[in-house]
Amino acid sequence: MDCQRALSLMHGYLDRELDLTTRLAVEQHLADCPACREISQQQQALSAALGAQARYHRARPALAAGIRSALDVIDATSGTTMRQTPRWLSLAASVVFAAFIGSGITYWLAGTAPEELLAREVIASHVRAQMVAGRLTDISSSDSHTVKPWFNGKLDFAPPVLDLTTQGFPLVGGRLEYLTNRPVAALVYRHRQHLIQLYVWPAVDRPDTALHALTRQGYQVYYWSDATMHYWAISDLNAEALKSFCKLLQEHAAAGPVARAIRGLPGPEDLS
Ligand SMILES: [Zn+2]
Repeated sequence: MDCQRALSLMHGYLDRELDLTTRLAVEQHLADCPACREISQQQQALSAALGAQARYHRARPALAAGIRSALDVIDATSGTTMRQTPRWLSLAASVVFAAFIGSGITYWLAGTAPEELLAREVIASHVRAQMVAGRLTDISSSDSHTVKPWFNGKLDFAPPVLDLTTQGFPLVGGRLEYLTNRPVAALVYRHRQHLIQLYVWPAVDRPDTALHALTRQGYQVYYWSDATMHYWAISDLNAEALKSFCKLLQEHAAAGPVARAIRGLPGPEDLS
């Protein structure tokens, strides 16, 4: 079993949903592969923390009764739609709704944009990688020709790994990371004494090429997409320096073979 397969089975493995043979194969891979083992341990810690800290609330009887009677009024005054809803379903809906009001989940669901959730994952990953010795990189090298092929067989895509040394952003290395429910590439760059982590994974939806900025917990975060990849960059660098790093990546992608193919332009390899 390779890393790609092991990571795709990780949720099923942790939720004990795999058949015995597959489970043993995943276990064998985790025993042999420190990178996947680390991700598995992080996921276990996360689900344990959620299980221990998530709050469950039963709606107070008065609240549940109030919602039920409000539904009765809607039943009586509206036309067919509510009458077609089975009674147990509207009751269940009222209880769920009551539970949401009671726990503030309504606010949580409505008030948290996907970008905000992803930003929290990115910050947590960035902090964790620097807290644990040896966690920052699975492959340590300033040579993009060493780092890029390391991802072969570990991911189902080839992340762009650039040499930006002359621009002041030498490469430190790379590692596997697990964000937004999928394996992603984490590339580590440096600018003076500051680390930059760049998370990359394939874009499946229409690219949002604009450069978006966030500041959270003292970290600068920039994110954008192009025709092939999503990019999230995080650092404790000042915003201007991190932005210029992101601009370099955007310019490189815009001049790359994929972008040229999309625009129908010949590449240097076609001009010889
Ligand atoms: Zn692995």
